[in-house]
Amino acid sequence: MSHSLNNTSVVIVLPVHNEEATLAGVVEEIDAAFSSMALPMLLFVDDGSSDRSREIIAQLIGSRGKVCCLAFSRNFGHQAAVMAGLAYAPDGCIVLVMDADGQDPPSVALELVHQVLYGFDIAYGIRQKREGKNRFKRLAYWSFYRVLCWLSSTNLPLDAGDFCAYSSRAARLLANMGESYPYIRGLRAWIGLNQVGVPYYRPDRVAGETSYNLTRLIRLALDGILGFSLKPLRFSLYLGLITFLLCLLLGLIYLMLYVFNI
Ligand code: UDP
Ligand code: MG
Repeated sequence: MSHSLNNTSVVIVLPVHNEEATLAGVVEEIDAAFSSMALPMLLFVDDGSSDRSREIIAQLIGSRGKVCCLAFSRNFGHQAAVMAGLAYAPDGCIVLVMDADGQDPPSVALELVHQVLYGFDIAYGIRQKREGKNRFKRLAYWSFYRVLCWLSSTNLPLDAGDFCAYSSRAARLLANMGESYPYIRGLRAWIGLNQVGVPYYRPDRVAGETSYNLTRLIRLALDGILGFSLKPLRFSLYLGLITFLLCLLLGLIYLMLYVFNI
């Protein structure tokens, strides 16, 4: 096992939006967790940060090595950042996607990489217990995954976020899908291949603020629902049809009333 680990290149994609408070610590934790293998490459995707994140990444490029950064011209959103990371990861590597705020534990990241080494194309984390101050958000996530699973005809795993390791071919497939509003956890389930879920305990972020406010969460949820279920489309079709028939009936009734002068 350690032999194959030593010979395998791992690229870690880290989407970053204003994470100056957590970046350095997360990199330290990653390096400690992956110390048994060749130093992984870190591919930061700076999604238009307005704090010191870019400066910190530049320092890491100088001090750590094996670090590169895609710098977005503005904030395009987390899903776009992950997609860019998948697209720019070199061929032939295992690609691991994790948040840059300390919520995706590097020890679990190593476990996900192991699963891909064992032969899985996709190994994703399943949030077992979610820590966090915001009870509403936790409930919203919990219900969303279940509603989407019920609505969708794709078999979407519950409580699985973007924390995931991909084989080179899985990363390629996803990156080449060309979705304008990607809902990655759905696309990932849709492409098939051999997949496995690894349960883990998700802590609260160690510092900084979430960039997902309510509007952005709703937008992500809508991308998920519209992209992975025909039910809302069918529902609006039936609703339109029923309304049309009711109007026709009403029109006929009025016409008869008029013609027969009732
Ligand atoms: N992120 C990003 N662009 C955004 C929002 C977030 O690249 O527009 C990054 C963020 O820096 C973090 C990850 O995506 O590494 C997850 O974001 P966040 O922690 O805000 O989401 P939450 O964990 O609250 O769902
Ligand atoms: Mg987070």
